[in-house]
Amino acid sequence: MEMIDLRSDTVTWPTPEMRQAMANAAVGDDVYGEDLTVNRLQEAAAQRFGKAAGLFVASGTMGNLVSVLAHCTRGDEVILGDKAHTFVYEAGGIAALGGVNPHTVPVQPDGTLPLDAIRAAIRPDNVHMPRTKLIALENTQGTVGGVPISKAYTDAVGAIADDHGIPLHIDGARVFNAAAALDIDVAELTATADSVTFCLSKGLCAPVGSVIVGDQDFITRAHRIRKLVGGAMRQAGIIAAAGLIALETMPQRLHEDHANARKLAEGLAALPQIVIDLAHVQTNMVFFELRADVPMSAPELADRLRAYNINMMAMGERRFRAVTHYWITPEHIDHVLSAIKKELS
Ligand SMILES: *Cc1c(COP(=O)(O)O)cnc(C)c1O
Repeated sequence: MEMIDLRSDTVTWPTPEMRQAMANAAVGDDVYGEDLTVNRLQEAAAQRFGKAAGLFVASGTMGNLVSVLAHCTRGDEVILGDKAHTFVYEAGGIAALGGVNPHTVPVQPDGTLPLDAIRAAIRPDNVHMPRTKLIALENTQGTVGGVPISKAYTDAVGAIADDHGIPLHIDGARVFNAAAALDIDVAELTATADSVTFCLSKGLCAPVGSVIVGDQDFITRAHRIRKLVGGAMRQAGIIAAAGLIALETMPQRLHEDHANARKLAEGLAALPQIVIDLAHVQTNMVFFELRADVPMSAPELADRLRAYNINMMAMGERRFRAVTHYWITPEHIDHVLSAIKKELS
């Protein structure tokens, strides 16, 4: 039996159709701008988001780094969430490589940053202070359960940014999950953002890559910075070919992953040994805990689940995160629920 891997949607393999397209991709030297498949992917991404241009990058981390460096220079400041991926999980790159100061604002349980806190974080024009040059949001907000951030909220932050002449960046690693959950077009959801990074390699199932979209000026600066950080690739059409299929075929099926997450969450909620907040299960992530009196730790249960061909990530002594994706079926969820029930009873 194959492994049921619920650790993350980053574990998704490319589909047979993607592998076929990769084998047959038209390629060229992308540093000369001559890779037809990369160009097609960048144009398709820009069009999908209603922005002027796109740039293919190696990872979401590179997409955020390049975007921040294209908006800010050394000594500038970016306002972002204290649980933002860019602040916590990108090795401090914006500071280490860009000299950009992160000014954090608390992420609320619903994934938003308080608007007042954003306003208060914007620096006045004062020679003592760094200059606020960017506001960055994350959608979905991973650390609070992969919750989608609404268009109304995004627009409200966009309006604050506009009032101060500051651009808005969205780390949209899973922005298509947000759009699917909110039942809104991704272009509409991110309309007030000046730049967006999204991952082809998570729920969209491509093996490698992310795309940044924004206006032409921004993408021109980002293109230069991508070279600076070593991200200019040559016959990158081999991987962009899978990205094109990801972009064209995967967003419209993400509700299936969300339904599977819901099914898992509701099944877990029915077990007396499990603590779970169903309200936070809105996309493809399920966070849950073992009740304090369960005589087993999360890592121990994770170990035992391996015997059922289930790979699930324990996050600390009591807590789990499970993520559904293309390769997880409703039957897998049934199998996972019965295995957990058996081990806990
Ligand atoms: C995965 C992720 C990224 C980028 O990660 P890479 O592994 O570098 O592709 C950025 N932001 C968020 C919110 C993510 O979940």
